[in-house]
Amino acid sequence: MNSKGIVFILSAASGTGKTTTCKLLKQKLPELKFSVSHTTREARSGESEGVDYYFISQKDFEEKIKRNEFLEWANVHNQCYGTAFETVERHRQNGEDLLIELDVQGAHSLRNINYKAVFIFIMPPSLKELEARLNKRNTEPPEIINDRLEVGKYEIKQFDIYDYILTNDKVEETAENLSSIIRAERCRKEMYQPSPDLNALLNSKVNT
Ligand code: 5GP
Repeated sequence: MNSKGIVFILSAASGTGKTTTCKLLKQKLPELKFSVSHTTREARSGESEGVDYYFISQKDFEEKIKRNEFLEWANVHNQCYGTAFETVERHRQNGEDLLIELDVQGAHSLRNINYKAVFIFIMPPSLKELEARLNKRNTEPPEIINDRLEVGKYEIKQFDIYDYILTNDKVEETAENLSSIIRAERCRKEMYQPSPDLNALLNSKVNT
């Protein structure tokens, strides 16, 4: 952990395997925090308030928009999702690294305000495979699957706003690659925090 805290933005088209990747990532990097968004959608079975999302009404969501409480928000599959400033700032002030799962619109909003973060996109191995995974999930009716696929294609086409692209062929490998990216970002020169004696050395004049 460093005192600044790095923000990681993670996006993927629906059905790519982002949720499973994140589950594995949590085991690999237990110190990494995951941002909890606000949403107007209903909780799915197994999801809990304040852990997966803050589940709120449309009216409360709109009030939060009016009060400017969201760092970003978007309408995804006809439901509202938003990341509260308060959530992000709480982690950053604690110096914790934070992963925020966003759709591509949310990632765009943050790019537009030059938000300092590492942007990562998970790609399906192919469109055919994405369609097969959406069908296999068996959680949505065919017309919804079709919508998700179309939105997914639109999202995939915007891969260029991301810093890293991970192809999710084998989920264990994807989670390993994702944790490697996070570990590498923590080693960037600008993140380095020397001990007091090393700091003194680094700030002393170089004898040539
Ligand atoms: P789900 O309903 O399957 O949990 O999420 C649907 C989509 O909304 C996913 O792509 C997820 O990453 C995205 N999402 C979740 N929270 C937020 C958020 O706070 N802002 C935005 N822009 N997208 C979000």
